[in-house]
Parts: sequence; C-alpha cells; structure tokens
Amino acid sequence: MITAVQQTKWIGKNWRFFEVVESTQDVVREWILNGAPHGAIVIADRQTCGRGRIGRSWFSPPGKNLYFTVAMQLSHSHPPLGTLSLLIGVAVAEALRKFSDRIFVKWANDVVSELGRKLAGILVEGFEPEPKKVWALVGVGINVNITENDFPDDLRPIATSLSIVCSREFDRFEVLAKVLCSLEFWWGKWENNELDLFWQAYDQLDWLKGKRVRAFLPDGTEVEGTAAGITFDGELRLILPEGTERRLIAGDVSVRTNVAS
Ligand code: ATP
Repeated sequence: MITAVQQTKWIGKNWRFFEVVESTQDVVREWILNGAPHGAIVIADRQTCGRGRIGRSWFSPPGKNLYFTVAMQLSHSHPPLGTLSLLIGVAVAEALRKFSDRIFVKWANDVVSELGRKLAGILVEGFEPEPKKVWALVGVGINVNITENDFPDDLRPIATSLSIVCSREFDRFEVLAKVLCSLEFWWGKWENNELDLFWQAYDQLDWLKGKRVRAFLPDGTEVEGTAAGITFDGELRLILPEGTERRLIAGDVSVRTNVAS
C-alpha cells in the first residue's frame, strides 16, 4: 500500500487500509465527516456489502482484488457530473492497458475485456455534508487475480479479471499505483474543464460503439438501437432502427449487447 501511494502526487497521501469493511464508500463518507482531506483513500481487502449502481452488489472476496474509494472534493465549476464516472472508467481502463490492450470502457460505469466481460466497476456517489461542500465518492472495484472458478455461477459468464485476460498473476499494489496515477491525471483534466483528450480517449476505448444494444429503462420499457458514442453530458447516443437518435442518461439504465441483428 505504501509503495503504491509513494508514486502519486496527491491521491492517497492520507490512506486507511482495512481487512474487511461493509463498503469502502460508507467508510469514506464517515471519514469525510471527521475531516478526511481531498484525495484521501480507503482500501479494503474484502467488502461484505460492496455496492454497484441502483442497489446492485459488487462481489468482493478477500486476497485477490482491489476495492477502494477516493474522497474527491468538487470545485464550484466543474464539467457535467454525468461525465465523471465515464472519466474514471477511462482512467482505470488506461491504467490497466499498461498490462493488456484488450481492455475497454462500457457505458456507463464498467471496464470490460474484449469479450465485454466485466473486469472493473465504478461507482461515483455525491455527498454534501454541509451546504456548498460537495464531494464525489469515487469507488472502484477491480478484479485483479481472481480466477474463473472463484466467481459465483451467476457472474462466471459475465465477469473476468486482469489475470484471466493476461494469463498471469499481478502484484495488487503495483496495479493500484498505476490506477491512482492515472486517476490523478484524468481528475486534473476534468476539474480544469480540459476534456478534449478525454473525449478522444473515450472514443478509442468505447466498447459499445457501433454495436446493436438493448437498453432497459427505469420505467420498465426497453429500447433497441445502435450505440453511437456519448454526448458532452455523458449520455449514451443510440441510433434507433428508424434512424432517429435517442439519448440515454446513466443512472438507472442497463445496456445489453446480446441483441439479434
Ligand atoms: P449492468 O452491467 O447490468 O448494466 P451495472 O453496470 O449497472 O449493471 P454495476 O453497478 O456496475 O452494474 O455492477 C453491479 C453488477 O455487476 C452486478 O449486478 C453483477 O451483475 C456484476 N458484478 C458484481 N460483482 C462483480 C465482480 N466482482 N466482477 C464482475 N461483475 C460483477
């Protein structure tokens, strides 16, 4: 852990490591209430209630993977918040690409292998402990050394890990160091509204682009179309069969690609 945070400029200069927590998001929230500085990080070997979006769970067994949350204080003028989890996805994917170029981002908050299997998940939650002091709790779970057999049956067909993709084991803290340095770089771009590089990087890493997808909307309806990148607000652009464009806001939308074309 110490070797990882020695390689960063400001993320993780204050850190707390736990053998087990319910969720690193909740530990950081508590820590912010007790004075955590910008860039503070909580990392755990295991989570008993690791979370994804909309109450979904993140499988977080011990000894194999990375689970952490960084406390990021938002400045008064920042780009649309909808772009933040996409930017964190790009940061994580670019860091993991130091080990394999067969790693991509999948709107809205996943990092996936070439086959579209989930390798890492991102959860960005807002937190406003007092008026005008807004924080982003940037949560990241990365499957590093977990093997196929370690996944429960329901995840085995949809999940993967860095070690499965690269056919070797990794030092988790070496991976963490790369991810934190990448997060610093991309956070700097984001908070200074310098997003040109981000749009380019997203476009190159966009696993959905050009694929036929089905989106499940919060009202229970479904929509099918061809993914055509993202908007400046971080919405997914879908070209519908009749040629019109529909924009989907992340949050409650799930996207699947197993659609007959
Ligand atoms: P979907 O991919 O269905 O749209 P999502 O991206 O909104 O879901 P997330 O919140 O990112 O979902 O992650 C939670 C989901 O990821 C779970 O419902 C489960 O299907 C899957 N999952 C949970 N733990 C892991 C893990 N360790 N590795 C890969 N996938 C996982």
